[in-house]
Amino acid sequence: MAEIAIVGAGPLGLATALMLHREGLPVRLFDARPANAPSSEARVLALSEGSRQILDCLAAWPTTPTTPITTIHVSQLGSFGSTVMRASEEGVAALGHVLPATELIQQLQAQVTDAAIPIEYETLIALGEASQETIRLQAKHRDGSTRDSVETPLVLCCEGSVRAERGALVHDYQQHALLCRAQIADPHDNRAFERFTPDGPLALLPLGDDYAVVWTQPAVRAQALLAADDADWLSALQSAFGTQVRFTAIRDRASYPLALKLRLNPTAQRCVWLGNAAQTLHPVAGQGLNLALRDAWELVEAIREAQDPGDADVLARYARGRALDRFAAAGFSDALVRSFGSRLPGLATARGLGLAALSALPPLRHFLARRMIFGARAWP
Ligand SMILES: Cc1cc2nc3c(=O)[nH]c(=O)nc-3n(C[C@H](O)[C@H](O)[C@H](O)COP(=O)(O)OP(=O)(O)OC[C@H]3O[C@@H](n4cnc5c(N)ncnc54)[C@H](O)[C@@H]3O)c2cc1C
Repeated sequence: MAEIAIVGAGPLGLATALMLHREGLPVRLFDARPANAPSSEARVLALSEGSRQILDCLAAWPTTPTTPITTIHVSQLGSFGSTVMRASEEGVAALGHVLPATELIQQLQAQVTDAAIPIEYETLIALGEASQETIRLQAKHRDGSTRDSVETPLVLCCEGSVRAERGALVHDYQQHALLCRAQIADPHDNRAFERFTPDGPLALLPLGDDYAVVWTQPAVRAQALLAADDADWLSALQSAFGTQVRFTAIRDRASYPLALKLRLNPTAQRCVWLGNAAQTLHPVAGQGLNLALRDAWELVEAIREAQDPGDADVLARYARGRALDRFAAAGFSDALVRSFGSRLPGLATARGLGLAALSALPPLRHFLARRMIFGARAWP
């Protein structure tokens, strides 16, 4: 069989290549960036237990220690209602695992090298014509020269964002995610926080002895905070979060603009968009790469026995099979941002009642926790 092409050698492209290789399917990766430039740079990832199991199968779970989340505390600032999810109640050792994206990428890259999977760096790919049997890709070198075109029975786009807006649902939140590492006065005891504030959600993820902070702010306020010095940022963070955790210093500040972009159909003739290239989500529920790994895993399940991996019926079955998980994750994160971000009178009370219901009803909490860990069908 001819090689399946993967566009994008970020964490998802690398993981997808390993999944295909594990099934004996030939694969080649292309990436526009130079070999040594990292893709998802400063990001810290909270990966679910389901993702850990997938990466473990690929021998790609980092050998360096990750930080387990054993409790998640969810609340809204300045109003009643809160709930706590515990790993012990869900029968898992951890609800999630926190690690710097760079450590995952290094481990994935090492496995791809061991498996001798070819990667062509500094090669920008554009999709060309699809025929009955193949799709043509135009490959351009970084220096502007055009290479011979590539023919493949199937191209998997793992480009890290939804590029086309045609056929996609797009909503710009006019918000930025502000990221930093925060030192704290007392040990975190592996507790994560999701606190909804009127400006947007504020998440604290335990990482080593610190917290990794993902703090959503309206675009204008985010600009002001980016221009502020560390001391002003620290004091703004403290007053946004409240007194339950005491921050003593911050470092590694960064910012990302936030939007929802969802391709309604993640497939075309001999082409599949995976992960962030199929759906770019608000990071409020930490679902991006978790959902992406489930996309890739189910795609490989769908094509591994197929005579022709790019067959239209196979791809249509894959798209139907993924619809529930994709739309549920996008809808859930979008609903969280919109309902907790609204200042409509009475909504704070309704949200408080929702959180109190979650706290009082273990089966409801269990339902939500399983879906956050394993996806819409509590998979695998
Ligand atoms: C603030 C923030 C916090 C997040 N937190 C979490 C979290 O806690 N948990 C979680 O699961 N997810 C989280 N995410 C999402 C997660 O970071 C992404 O899902 C993940 O990093 C995307 O990986 P990727 O491999 O799909 O894309 P990328 O890492 O962006 O890689 C894409 C690659 O494709 C290459 N490329 C693009 N176009 C072309 C082309 N035409 N030709 C050749 N190469 C091309 C690029 O050079 C790049 O190397 C978060 C996202 C943000 C913004």
